[in-house]
Amino acid sequence: MTSRTIMRHQEWTLQPDREPDAEPATYAMQCAVCGEISPPGTDFADPQSWVFTHGGRNPSHHTYREIITRPWRAWWKP
Ligand SMILES: [Zn+2]
Repeated sequence: MTSRTIMRHQEWTLQPDREPDAEPATYAMQCAVCGEISPPGTDFADPQSWVFTHGGRNPSHHTYREIITRPWRAWWKP
């Protein structure tokens, strides 16, 4: 028995989603020492405030990672 797979070649486009209905970009901070992550927010000042609170409770935690979640969209040309 022989089977064939026919794949259609399509050209994809991928770009950051800037449509009005796009999900918002969100920001969060993660402590690189213990791994705790702030709540995500659309204002990057909120995760930065979380760092000061976290650092106040954990005086030896000095390194952090910023986590940015950005919406993207992909589509193919008909
Ligand atoms: Zn920590």
